[in-house]
Amino acid sequence: MSTTQNQTIPSIIDAEDLSIFYGNFRAVKNVFMKINPNKITAIIGPSGCGKSTVLRSFNRMNDFIPNCHVTGQITFQGHNIYADDVDPVQVRQRIGMVFQKPNPFPKSIFDNVAWGLRINGMKGDLSEPVEQALRQAALWDEVKDHLKKSGLSLSGGQQQRLCIARALAVKPDIILMDEPCSALDPIATLKIEDLMRELSKDYTIIIVTHNMQQAARASDYTAFFTMDSDRAGLMVEYGETSHIFTNPHDKRTEDYITGRYG
Ligand code: ADP
Repeated sequence: MSTTQNQTIPSIIDAEDLSIFYGNFRAVKNVFMKINPNKITAIIGPSGCGKSTVLRSFNRMNDFIPNCHVTGQITFQGHNIYADDVDPVQVRQRIGMVFQKPNPFPKSIFDNVAWGLRINGMKGDLSEPVEQALRQAALWDEVKDHLKKSGLSLSGGQQQRLCIARALAVKPDIILMDEPCSALDPIATLKIEDLMRELSKDYTIIIVTHNMQQAARASDYTAFFTMDSDRAGLMVEYGETSHIFTNPHDKRTEDYITGRYG
């Protein structure tokens, strides 16, 4: 199985023999995966095959889950993010995350975006970096005249773009997106997909989606995961999205993308 790396460009994330456990249960096993920088990589597969678990392992978000541990190695720009001397807070600064359900803080639009900057010790007038992040998240024009309004007053799609702006404000390298459109209507979904394409010029994006059309439309690379007979998730196939959706190597991938799964 290919781990899909553009041979001329070093990968930004490299998972080597990654297994992820909840207590004694191995939820994901033996994943080898190289993520190309400035690309959109989609992780697809049936519910429970470990997509979110893998995504969370890429920025140590799984540290918050009691009993969760990983074996194998994940490097980010060549550094092992699980090494003893690594501060997970710094990892999450470089590798931000956007969740399934938009989760703005009950604060103003401005303060939502300024939050990350403030906890990183930035003081004084933050209007410039806040505007920059809102512009990058394609939200500025819609909110510039009411930055003091609560983030919770926005529509679902705007709230998700606010969360993306909050993630962008601290200038990460990678944005992890865990089913970011599943709570949104089709128009808001397309806006987020357009935004992802624009952001991939400057950022690396890894998205978990249960929506195959979304993976086919919006990603450059696709990884297909499924469950083995021991219920552990494994990566079956990984490659260029155009290839995975038109000419998959593995019968399990073909069955899944053609709707014959199960
Ligand atoms: P997917 O994102 O593909 O739906 P998940 O990563 O959510 O899959 O889950 C993979 C497996 O890990 C499932 O068997 C799920 O029940 C289990 N799992 C997920 N989160 C936890 C958790 N916090 N504690 C224990 N088991 C979990």
